[in-house]
Amino acid sequence: MKVLDNPQTAQQACQSWRRDGLRIGFVATMGALHDGHLSLLKRAIAENNRTCASIFVNPLQFDDPEDLNTYPVNMEEDLEILKQHGCDMAFSGTMETFFPEVGNPAMIRRIDPGPYASSLEGTYRPGFFDGVATIVDRLFRTVGNCRAYFGEKDFQQTLVVKHLSNQLKGAGIDIEIVVCPTVRSKTGLALSSRNQQLGVVDIDIASRIYQALNRTQLAWRSSVRDRATLTRILNTALEHPLISIDYAEIRNPDDWNSTEKEMDSATALVAARIGDVRLIDNLRLDQPDES
Ligand code: AMP
Repeated sequence: MKVLDNPQTAQQACQSWRRDGLRIGFVATMGALHDGHLSLLKRAIAENNRTCASIFVNPLQFDDPEDLNTYPVNMEEDLEILKQHGCDMAFSGTMETFFPEVGNPAMIRRIDPGPYASSLEGTYRPGFFDGVATIVDRLFRTVGNCRAYFGEKDFQQTLVVKHLSNQLKGAGIDIEIVVCPTVRSKTGLALSSRNQQLGVVDIDIASRIYQALNRTQLAWRSSVRDRATLTRILNTALEHPLISIDYAEIRNPDDWNSTEKEMDSATALVAARIGDVRLIDNLRLDQPDES
């Protein structure tokens, strides 16, 4: 596996692959890799001729300096994991190398994250999606035409990056976004780099998020379609003295900003804090019951 610490050399490597007619799969990560990231990598490897992954903890998407400082970093281990799983190239960089045109990171021009960014995560983490869009735009420009794999766990983010890839078509950059299912632990907890910050008791409590999503899906399956009722069921199922809810909402995944009362398509989305750890999760309610 090639390990490159500079986006410019990563860009050259990707250009050279494309010149050889090779199709590139790309996985963007902030490191501290787990099986969720690896599910994206495995799919990228299966569907493309070459696969690359980025590892960069993007300061632009953290509004809280403490959150940035405590975000887990395991660069050496991550590179070993990527190598063992057959990734062809891993790259990272610094603010200076990702944005060489600006001397001072405070001067970086933020990319407009578009119409899906203004609620939920956008409300609770001001500037978050601007930061995501700005670095993902730069990553896409680095890798160039490719298939890019993102996790459904960050559902709103998948809408933002799809919008971004549409914008980039205008600049002649063709990025196909592939959304991959959420990987969970045995208890249902969605895998996340932030889970490392949870204690044993917290992990148990955190698993209630998935239980609440499931409870809401059961209501859907028993034909509840009223948004307010589904929202109430979700919020009630989340009630616990150690869970502090940022939001627990039902949205139409195909018509994100709609406010329809009776839903024909629905995703339940939750952001909650357990102690200092903020977790997000979601579940498509109108999935067929495969059990
Ligand atoms: P992150 O390193 O948290 O920025 O995540 C990098 C990519 O991995 C994003 O596309 C995430 O949505 C995806 N991802 C994170 N956790 C999971 C998971 N449990 N299942 C599937 N994909 C995930």
